[in-house]
Amino acid sequence: DLALYEAKRAGRGRYRFFEQGMDLQLHERRELEIDLRRALALKQFELAYQPFLDLSTDAVIGFEALLRWNHPVRGKVPPLSFISVAEENGLIVKIGEWVLMTACMAAASWPGDLIVAVNVSPLQFKADTLLTTVSTALERSGLAPERLELEITEGALLADTDNVLATLHSLRALGVKISMDDFGTGYSSLSYLQKFPFNKIKIDRSFVSGGGADSEAILRAVSGLGSNLGMAITAEGVETAEQLGRIREQSCTHVQGYLTGRPMAPDQVELFLQEQPIAQVTN
Ligand code: C2E
Ligand code: MG
Ligand code: MG
Ligand code: MG
Repeated sequence: DLALYEAKRAGRGRYRFFEQGMDLQLHERRELEIDLRRALALKQFELAYQPFLDLSTDAVIGFEALLRWNHPVRGKVPPLSFISVAEENGLIVKIGEWVLMTACMAAASWPGDLIVAVNVSPLQFKADTLLTTVSTALERSGLAPERLELEITEGALLADTDNVLATLHSLRALGVKISMDDFGTGYSSLSYLQKFPFNKIKIDRSFVSGGGADSEAILRAVSGLGSNLGMAITAEGVETAEQLGRIREQSCTHVQGYLTGRPMAPDQVELFLQEQPIAQVTN
């Protein structure tokens, strides 16, 4: 019963007020986990969609689906504050299934050949249900496989290389595309680009907004190598015209950031597309 649930939550909130120090974090984490377990059933999740554009034509190529949690008491909880909890308790697998299905359904209603990019957590990537989940989402939505792009981070690549490669090849065999997300952070290594069959590299925002000589050099090296290997290269987190100008001088093929479009509610996508050129052919 939702009303009772909210009353309990408010009660916990008051209790929290009297707690101090590190117990608070542990307590809050436990609360978050309890709430997270019910969030799917209570339909508290939503996807926002952020456009990415082709740098040579400035046309919209597709949208990345970004998870949003509308918590009845906390309001909008950003993904980075609950995804790690969902990974620890395994809930991310069920949440990820919902994300894939919802994103494919939405994309199937978009005009043209627009792509939807979906983030896949390392835990979800390793789950033996991933292939079934992806093919079920494609079948039920009727979305053409080449219109689905899965974004994985290097965390997914750290496990046993043979298994990782087998999963990546099976996904590619379904016809979906694979992107290496947040490239350049954490443990990424240039050898990954050669070892794993990615269609696209997304260069992390920190190298785009960094501005310094180091960021510039990394941007040049990664985009140069990626394009020589036949991959698309997205510059993430472009916020200013000056940053856009800088990435145009590199071998980047796509741009995604607040400058070219913020994450938007599903019903805003159609409106956004009315004011933007849409790519006619996907690559
Ligand atoms: P990400 O996949 O790298 O997504 C890009 C993040 O950068 C998004 O944050 C987006 O809103 C933000 N962003 C885009 N353009 C700009 C910009 O110009 N400036 C700045 N400052 N930020 C920009 P968001 O939506 O908070 O998501 C954060 C992360 O949470 C994502 O990073 C992704 O790793 C994860 N995430 C989001 N949705 C999902 C999901 O459905 N499943 C999983 N497993 N992870 C998700
Ligand atoms: Mg992403
Ligand atoms: Mg990213
Ligand atoms: Mg990122």
